[in-house]
Amino acid sequence: MTKKYDFLIVGAGYAGAVCARQLADAGKKVLVLDKRQHIGGNAYDEKDENGVLIHPYGPHIFHTNSKKVFEYLSHFTDWRFYEHRVLARVNGQYYPIPINRLTINKVFGLNLKEEDVEAFLDAKRIPKDSVKTSEDVVLNSVGPELCEMFFRGYTKKQWNLDLSELSAGVAARIPTRTNDDDRYFTDTYQFMPAEGYTVMFEKILDSANIDVNLNVDFLADRDQWSYEKLIYTGPVDAFYDYCYGRLPYRSLSFEHQHLASVESTQTVGTVNYPNEEKFTRITEFKHLTGQNVSGTSIVREYSKAEGDPYYPVPNPNNEALYKKYQEKADSESGVYFVGRLAQYRYYNMDQVVASALSLVEKLI
Ligand code: FAD
Ligand code: UDP
Repeated sequence: MTKKYDFLIVGAGYAGAVCARQLADAGKKVLVLDKRQHIGGNAYDEKDENGVLIHPYGPHIFHTNSKKVFEYLSHFTDWRFYEHRVLARVNGQYYPIPINRLTINKVFGLNLKEEDVEAFLDAKRIPKDSVKTSEDVVLNSVGPELCEMFFRGYTKKQWNLDLSELSAGVAARIPTRTNDDDRYFTDTYQFMPAEGYTVMFEKILDSANIDVNLNVDFLADRDQWSYEKLIYTGPVDAFYDYCYGRLPYRSLSFEHQHLASVESTQTVGTVNYPNEEKFTRITEFKHLTGQNVSGTSIVREYSKAEGDPYYPVPNPNNEALYKKYQEKADSESGVYFVGRLAQYRYYNMDQVVASALSLVEKLI
């Protein structure tokens, strides 16, 4: 009997939506399921009750060095140029993050020139022959004082782990600069979708070959669907009923707030609180979106162990456990795993798009 759909895709975030569109354009009939009531996964945005465009699942800033990914998404959105800037608040002072010349001069009360910064850091850093953990990364690049000031506390709050318990890749996301560049990212392409992420996802999924069913948990009743092949973008351990045990995913709570009486509350998109407060950071959305609207909306992020899975937790134990699931996943025929939760990788949006595009290239 022919199946109703060529592909069933679980998840309407980047991984699911990009796969769906590519398969649909290749003539495949696709059904996309999501257990949430909206498309877009964690990148979903919407206007709050005051008309401010917010990101309910935390701030999402698009940046990539991949021309392919940028050009692909450009089929579905116009862009607004935006370079994200972040300050860290420590003892009532604000410092540029990533650490740059200005940060160093302010912390140490110096007036170093760019050409002096390298030598200054050389005297501070603790050189590591082998850089394995996030602590190695930070100590090797800036030494203990800056590590304690900007990294150890933030990391403990975000992961409930010490820097030494996380793989190098986590802290390596934040480089150290000897110049005054205070942008959070230096990628070639740094833009926000002009009308927001959700509008972009609507266009990605807008195809006669794609049906979308929301509010459906695939794992609650897997056998009710008629399809040839499956693409799964949820947590890989849940797919296998946690047969090897639970993969740790870090969750967050978001405290959204609208401030009607001010136009802006902070000078940059995000302020990090490495050592003060219970939350890790505050983001003010108008910086990201450039929206011209009265009042302003912010979000505070609180990290937690339980709840919706948002981050894989990169360390050797978890990576070893994931490998067991990955072997099981790789041995499937007609079932494919893609995305941040399914591949247990600390992927940015562009990396998920790239991963989804390459999966579909293999499938068609
Ligand atoms: P998701 O977006 O998680 O989508 C998976 C979907 O699958 C979800 O909608 C889920 O509901 C659905 N699903 C899961 N299980 C089931 C099931 N059983 N049945 C039905 N549906 C199911 N990236 C950047 O590039 N820049 C940023 O600034 C940035 N900021 C971030 C900030 C935060 C707080 C977080 C958490 C992430 C951030 N990211 C950022 C990463 C970005 O969110 C991800 O890379 C991307 O959204 C992952 O897409 P995905 O499709 O793999 O997963
Ligand atoms: N980090 C830190 N201090 C900072 C910013 C980042 O210690 O001011 C560390 C922390 O461990 C964090 C990681 O670097 O989880 C990655 O930061 P990023 O801003 O990329 O996190 P995301 O936006 O993915 O939550």
